Amino acid sequence: MALNEIVVISGKGGTGKTILTASLVPLLKKAAIADCDVDAPDLHILLAPKMVQKESFLGTRKAVIDYNRCSRCRKCVDACNFGAVSSDIEIITTKCEGCGVCGYVCPEGAISLQDAVVGEIYSSDTAYGRMVHARLIPGEGTSGKLVAEVRRRAKRIAEERGDKVLLIDGSPGIGCNVISSLTGVSRAVIVTEPTMSGLHDLDRVYRVTRKLSLPAIVVINKFDILPAMTEKIVQYCEKNHIPVGLKIPFHRGIVDAVVNRNIPYLYNRRFFDTIGITDFVARLCSVPDDGD
Ligand code: SF4
Ligand code: SF4
Repeated sequence: MALNEIVVISGKGGTGKTILTASLVPLLKKAAIADCDVDAPDLHILLAPKMVQKESFLGTRKAVIDYNRCSRCRKCVDACNFGAVSSDIEIITTKCEGCGVCGYVCPEGAISLQDAVVGEIYSSDTAYGRMVHARLIPGEGTSGKLVAEVRRRAKRIAEERGDKVLLIDGSPGIGCNVISSLTGVSRAVIVTEPTMSGLHDLDRVYRVTRKLSLPAIVVINKFDILPAMTEKIVQYCEKNHIPVGLKIPFHRGIVDAVVNRNIPYLYNRRFFDTIGITDFVARLCSVPDDGD
């Protein structure tokens, strides 16, 4: 049976995406987990995993100057379109895009492109399964490649361990890292909240899932804080034939769980059972049909 890859996404950060992902983990039982929010990873804070492997991630190539050959002609300073060579003729690594133009114009052959570390990638054990997560060095822009590597490793682990589900905490927004989180998954869970910007973000991210022909299911977080906006979101979902799989009311206990670095579901089991999270998980584990 093919691995069921479920990605949890949202149009922007702070909508409850990671709270939901962490709460699904104990209910899925035998699942591998991937945190693809590599710019601001925080799933590990709630799952408290034990790290078993850590590696540097070489995601790009950057210019390096051999000062023994450099004649300080400054041609590289003028040629770099990204402002990545300082007036002191030093490469500003966070700005360097690895285009190689500086090496092309250098009359002394003093510049080469070399592999550069842009982040770290970790493999860790949680109480519920193996988790792959990563951290991009602030300022580096190659998060799509790092996300793809997190997914690749998590998928390999899931297949080796015979897991049926790979649960992915996706990147927020609609950039290239989100596309990397989504490409080829079985189903997308879109978390939104009842505000105008929540509806706008839902529309943007849903269009991405539709372009990728992915079955989507919506979760409305804190649905009771603005009932009129919740109604608008429900109408939007009906119009676009997107099922609303779960509606989570505001609950102080969820905030307390996060503050205390606990999995919200375990901290508020009765609350989550009351709102139907078990049925929601069963739906996620079933084969998507036209209604999803
Ligand atoms: S490789 Fe491209 S971006 Fe980097 S310093 Fe050279 S010219 Fe600038
Ligand atoms: S182009 Fe080459 S020789 Fe000229 S300043 Fe840059 S590194 Fe030095």
